[in-house]
Amino acid sequence: TRSSDQEDLPHATKRKMADHLRRLETMFTLTPQRMRMIVEAFKDALEIGLAKPGQVVPMIPTYVFGWPSGKESGNYLAVDLGGTNLRVCLVTLQGGGKWEITQTKYRLTEEQKHDEGQLLFDFCAECLKTFVESSIESGQIQRGATLPLGFTFSYPCSQDKIDHGVLIRWTKGFGAPNTEGHDVVEMFKRSLEKHSVPAEIVALTCDTTGTLIASHYVNPTTKIACIFGTGCNAAYMERASDIPKISSLGIDPQDEIAINCEWGAFDSFEHEHLPRTKYDTIIDEASNKPGEQAFEKLISGRYLGEILRLIICELIDEGVLFLGQNTYKIEIPYSFDTAFLSLMESDPTDELLMIIGIFSHFFALETTLAERQFFRALAKLVGRRAARLSACGIAAIVSKMNYLEEGCAVGADGSLYNKYPGFADRIHEGLVDIFGEKGRNITTYHAEDGSGIGSAIVAAMTKNRKEASIY
Ligand code: BGC
Ligand code: MG
Repeated sequence: TRSSDQEDLPHATKRKMADHLRRLETMFTLTPQRMRMIVEAFKDALEIGLAKPGQVVPMIPTYVFGWPSGKESGNYLAVDLGGTNLRVCLVTLQGGGKWEITQTKYRLTEEQKHDEGQLLFDFCAECLKTFVESSIESGQIQRGATLPLGFTFSYPCSQDKIDHGVLIRWTKGFGAPNTEGHDVVEMFKRSLEKHSVPAEIVALTCDTTGTLIASHYVNPTTKIACIFGTGCNAAYMERASDIPKISSLGIDPQDEIAINCEWGAFDSFEHEHLPRTKYDTIIDEASNKPGEQAFEKLISGRYLGEILRLIICELIDEGVLFLGQNTYKIEIPYSFDTAFLSLMESDPTDELLMIIGIFSHFFALETTLAERQFFRALAKLVGRRAARLSACGIAAIVSKMNYLEEGCAVGADGSLYNKYPGFADRIHEGLVDIFGEKGRNITTYHAEDGSGIGSAIVAAMTKNRKEASIY
């Protein structure tokens, strides 16, 4: 074995690394001017999505009408089927913007993501059943009661009412057959009945919509919600009169309705606007959905680690990295977790000890200090590009809605936003690059739990509307 740091790299190798770093810097850096061009194209995509059905960025009307009052109350179940976990929750809304929540989380396996769709909903129903039974045991739920359920299903669904949604396409690596094109509420209902779970689905929401509502519940200056996690997306509130594609539905034009943008799909298929590198192309073509979710594939936690891994593998092939070491572990697709990028960027030690640990522990590779500094610089390039592209998406909504002058708060959630060091700061820097000093009027903050609390609030809002017969 090499005793990493005493034995340094040959001068020629160091020079090659420096050359590569310069090349990659050019590839991954977004100038303010380039960002403004992206924002313009993005804005157009948002407008077209509102104008006509079935567009690349689908701009889905969610049938969540307006903001919560803060007085919503009662007991609700929430089921959150996200990109990585399944979560079941019992939420007690206490009015006055307060709540209590108890919850259980389950990790989804790769098999479950690709097995028959109905089996996935069966699994959700089984987990919920166990959870409800133990909540009855502990006295939190009354025996014999049927609780209203908010279902957070964070994949693009087209809706024509709130308790209905046809899956347009799976994202985030899911591929369960016989689900796309089906009403997922219907499918989940079937599973709930099969397992006799005492729950009634009253609302289907997406994590972004839930986040918008939950954040506004506690911070009424919130106008936009974003998720930067395994996937990426945003939601905001739109006037019905500005959604031409629903003009024939008889909705009061003065009504406000939350829009689930599904912006992860921006620039899909045509790839005209985003600065895709060869690594992004490889990821796209090797994915189960080539061409789709083009924006998301440059930003979200599912892909950032893979981008870095592909760069490393290229340099292994060129003989620049890990000469003489067995590199099979790092050659496995998706073996390089995005969490490693976070760790690499936040390593506080001069010797970059955490990076030593990542490479030796997970990949059986020894690294020199120069290599570790190089990897850290790469992580920064990939992470920074993701944040600056995220800023472009936010800027597109801000500029479309004219929020710049008065300013607005953006509730944000997801593993990337919450755990990646500097992600939020880089978004804010990006907004200033796009808008100049006024960009500071737009600030993101860590949002409330949209998929649990938000989902329950939406369920409560729906119940209230039904009871008032505004339906
Ligand atoms: C999904 C969105 C979701 C986002 C964040 C995307 O892949 O299409 O519905 O909001 O991930 O979870
Ligand atoms: Mg989630």
